[in-house]
Amino acid sequence: MELKITDEKPALLGGEKAFTGAFPRWPVYDRSEEEALHEVLYSNKWGRLDGSSTAKFEAEYARVMGMKHCLTTSGGTTALFTMLGALGIGPGDEVILPAYTFVATYNVVVLNYALPILADTDINSFQVDPQKMRKAITKETKALMPVHMGGVPADLDSIMDLAQKHKLPVIEDACQAPGSEWKGKKVGSYGVGGAFSFQSSKNLNCAEGGAITTNDSAFYQACYAFHHQGQTESTASFGTGEGTRGTNARMTEWQSRMLLAQMVRQQAQDNHRSENAAYLSSLFNDIKGIYPARLYGGTTKVSYHLYMFRYDKAHFAGMPRERFIQALRAEGISTSTGYGRLNTDPYVLALGQNKHYLKIYGEKIMKQWSERNQCPQNDKLTSEQSLWLGQSVLLGSRSDMEQIAESVRKIQKYAKEIMTTH
Ligand SMILES: *Cc1c(COP(=O)(O)O)cnc(C)c1O
Repeated sequence: MELKITDEKPALLGGEKAFTGAFPRWPVYDRSEEEALHEVLYSNKWGRLDGSSTAKFEAEYARVMGMKHCLTTSGGTTALFTMLGALGIGPGDEVILPAYTFVATYNVVVLNYALPILADTDINSFQVDPQKMRKAITKETKALMPVHMGGVPADLDSIMDLAQKHKLPVIEDACQAPGSEWKGKKVGSYGVGGAFSFQSSKNLNCAEGGAITTNDSAFYQACYAFHHQGQTESTASFGTGEGTRGTNARMTEWQSRMLLAQMVRQQAQDNHRSENAAYLSSLFNDIKGIYPARLYGGTTKVSYHLYMFRYDKAHFAGMPRERFIQALRAEGISTSTGYGRLNTDPYVLALGQNKHYLKIYGEKIMKQWSERNQCPQNDKLTSEQSLWLGQSVLLGSRSDMEQIAESVRKIQKYAKEIMTTH
């Protein structure tokens, strides 16, 4: 792809901004959301135990996903928490998850007093490295929890192979990936269950909300009971429960009715993001030192939540990533470094001193635990290379993508000058 070559200086050096427009606002809504909220208000039925919107959304989401069951939850975190609860994960169990993920994936394991084991990243894809997952398996491992980071499918073939070999259930954290596909099937349909988030930054948005998808009816029933105080779907009034533990993680009618309205735009928005992402990658591929996150061979559709790419300062006169971000900001484009080093975050390291963990696992295992969580590839990715553009940027125009690439090219051309000005 030929970029228009100008001799324009970067904005940081006093040149014209490359990007003069504005990226689309988020959230996107119109009168249909307004009507949806009115409808729920005047129905006097605001919760799923009274109304019918939640069941309607679940049926619709299951249909779109090509799945037997969908269970909505109060959020993506509670969707994951509910599935771990339904699997009976608890103290003494180990769960393997990526080091490169939102902290929620980690938190739900800790909420169950299980031991979270962080697997290193495939730096080219930003996804969990299945080989590193394999190496982390012990006789205490009770589940694998891959994440489809940025909406991009993880290497599901390798992960499902591994799970089958070791007879381990897979819970897919597809919170960022509603609509993405692996070999023509939606992600979230490969494991025993998939988790989705409808939190306000996510591609399908009702402020806070989540869903579990599954083809396993017994697992669905167990999840339903867990998220509804141990009550079954048919329990008329609160009485004898199912299982031994439960919580309230129910979705409200406000959320589900909003989702029904938002969902109408989902397909078109997904296509728009995915066309722009492919175009931006084709432009970036012509720029040395900029590497779009690699897609695995089984990927057939990506409903990007993040556009993830790597920056190699060696091709930018040694310009640190922070300075590159500054230069891009001057052009009118905001990027972020994204997630940091979860495995060495003080919040995560503090678990080694948690009195309950010391009681359950003992000092030796907790000491080994932080050593097991070493992730050198992820350290390198997060501390030097990773960059994100948000999903709403991908809802911009084709020429917006050209202006992003043009900005990078200008910054590269003038990298030495940028390094020496303050
Ligand atoms: C957003 C997110 C979650 C949590 O979802 P909430 O709806 O915010 O609770 C979990 N995992 C990943 C990867 C996410 O991006």
